[in-house]
Order: sequence, then structure tokens, then C-alpha cells
Amino acid sequence: MEVTEVKNLLCTQIPTENILMNEPMKNHTSFKIGGPADLFITPTNSTQLVRAIQICNAHHIPYYIMGNGSNLLVDDEGFRGVIIQLYKNLCDIEIEETMITAYSGALLSKIASVALEHGLTGFEFAQGIPGTLGGAITMNAGAYGGEIKDVIISAEVIDPKGNRLILTKDELTLGYRTSSVQKNKYIVLKASFRFTKGTKETIAETMKDLAGRRRDKQPLDKPSAGSTFKRPDGYFAGKLIMDSGLRGYQIGGAMVSEKHCGFVVSDGTATFKDVKELISYIQLTVKKKFNVDLHPEVKIISN
Ligand SMILES: Cc1cc2nc3c(=O)[nH]c(=O)nc-3n(C[C@H](O)[C@H](O)[C@H](O)COP(=O)(O)OP(=O)(O)OC[C@H]3O[C@@H](n4cnc5c(N)ncnc54)[C@H](O)[C@@H]3O)c2cc1C
Repeated sequence: MEVTEVKNLLCTQIPTENILMNEPMKNHTSFKIGGPADLFITPTNSTQLVRAIQICNAHHIPYYIMGNGSNLLVDDEGFRGVIIQLYKNLCDIEIEETMITAYSGALLSKIASVALEHGLTGFEFAQGIPGTLGGAITMNAGAYGGEIKDVIISAEVIDPKGNRLILTKDELTLGYRTSSVQKNKYIVLKASFRFTKGTKETIAETMKDLAGRRRDKQPLDKPSAGSTFKRPDGYFAGKLIMDSGLRGYQIGGAMVSEKHCGFVVSDGTATFKDVKELISYIQLTVKKKFNVDLHPEVKIISN
């Protein structure tokens, strides 16, 4: 099916201004890498989202769900199909006593600000993670001893056939950077979290401290997708990479960060191929030196 035909079908369900053709993915990823997506859509409500998925399924058109693109490495060739971005539209946040319910496109930093405003403690760890709620649940995002698993109650998801399901915390099977959302290709629509009452001053102080630690340790001034590799059992990826002599090692525009070896960063010119080659080189070198397998945490999008 021609891209314009798919676009016409989507236009029957989603406002035309929310459907872009040949949209450069580098404009939507923190790595600033990625060629054009045939179609890039931003549904404004859950009905539009479900309809878009049904259209893709009925016509065997590949689709990919994304949030803020802070954990993605997209091919320079782009994506043949439909990228569905759940970010700026579906982002309402509601609060009821100590419970916060937010839609998938809400940024973690925004949810953390709402928690602070209402004197709720438990989400401080997430304030500096540059993702959306949807991406964070999928990845069971975590930092500084906290993770989504600690505070989530339940999530409403859409299965690949377009059915809505409510999953309890146990059904989400959140583990280290994994979830049933990832395994079953669910789409997170919204989720609820339970926090506890705290004092605003202490919450703000903790957030400030964690933000400072991030700034000191992480290469926040360079495009990246965060930690490139998952933490191997019993080791730290960054230390293994550093001890392999790879600090600052560069292929094309991709480089092992001098500040934190667990991050592959771009000098602004890195291509998909540069990053992929560097990832493979790091894996080979660490395997040779320490006999440890490094697995990417970053999600690679390539048809
Ligand atoms: C500077 C920097 C620091 C970072 N620090 C941390 C950190 O401390 N801890 C940490 O855990 N991560 C960290 N990350 C990685 C990243 O921010 C997290 O993984 C985040 O949760 C990804 O959210 P996102 O909205 O950007 O998702 P995306 O990158 O857009 O997508 C990530 C994955 O989630 C899926 N996804 C996104 N939205 C949905 C949805 N609604 N339903 C179903 N699937 C969905 C995508 O298909 C993809 O598989 C960092 C990244 C950067 C660039």
C-alpha cells in the first residue's frame, strides 16, 4: 500500500495536522539521530490511538510506539511504516489524595513536580529521567535506588489487537529494564501511582541533590540515549568499558563519553552506523578482556 493511501486512511480518524509524512526522526530523539519515518502521528486521544492501530493491523503496516525518544537509536534510513508518538497530547495528570494518575505522554519530570507541589514523596528518583510515563513503565525506568516498580499501582494498556486491559502491578511483571508491556507489545495509556505524605522542603532538597549528582556524573551536554548498556549481573557497564581502555574511544561522530563511559554520545554528527559500530566494538572488547556480555539498553529501530 502506498504511503499516501495509508495517510488518507489515518486522516479519517486523526486530525490531518497530527499526521506528518517523511518526518525526520532525529528531530524526536535525544540522540538526534534517525532518518525519515514514512508517517509520524500524534493521536490526541485514546480512541484515535486505537483506530490508528486497527488501520495498521488491517493493512499489515508496521508501527512503532514512542514517547520522548530518550531511549531510542533510529536508523538513518528511517522507518517504513507509522511511528506513533505518545507525548505532548496524551499527558494529563490527576491527583487524588496520595494517588497520582497520569496519561502515557506525561513527562516524568512533570509528574515529579506535581508530586512535589502536593507534598508527596516517592517519585524523587524519576525527576531527572528525560522520558514519558509510557516509556518509563515499558522500561521500568529507575535511578538512585528507586524504580517505577516501587510506586506503581496499575496501568491501563492497549493490546496489539486494540483491546483495553487494566494490569495490576504484578501483571506488569516489572524487572530490571523489562516489563510485560515490552514482552507483549502492549501500549501504555495511563497509570496510577501511590505515594506517601512528606514535607515539600525535604522532597525539593532530595530532587536538587539528585539533579546535581546527574549533572556531575552524566554527559548531559551531549546527545545520547542515556546508559547504552544494561547493567550486567555483578558489574557496572561503565566501569567495564573504562577498564577496557575505551574512555573517549570514537568511531565517526560516536564516542564513549569521557565523563561517563556507560554513555555512548554523539558529537552532533554521529550516524546510526557510527553508533552501531561503536556498540559492537565495545561489546567485543569487553567480552575479550572480562568475558562479560554487554546487552544494549537502548532500543534500536530499524526495519
Ligand atoms: C541523559 C539521559 C539520562 C537517562 N537517565 C536514565 C535513568 O536514570 N534511568 C533510566 O531508567 N533511564 C534513563 N534514561 C533512558 C530513558 O530516559 C528512559 O528509558 C525513559 O523511560 C524512556 O522514556 P521515553 O518516553 O523517552 O521512551 P522512548 O525512548 O520513546 O521509548 C522507549 C521504549 O518505550 C516504548 N514506549 C514508549 N512509550 C510507550 C507507551 N506509551 N506504550 C508502550 N511502549 C512505549 C518504546 O516503544 C520503546 O521500546 C536516560 C536517557 C537520557 C538521554
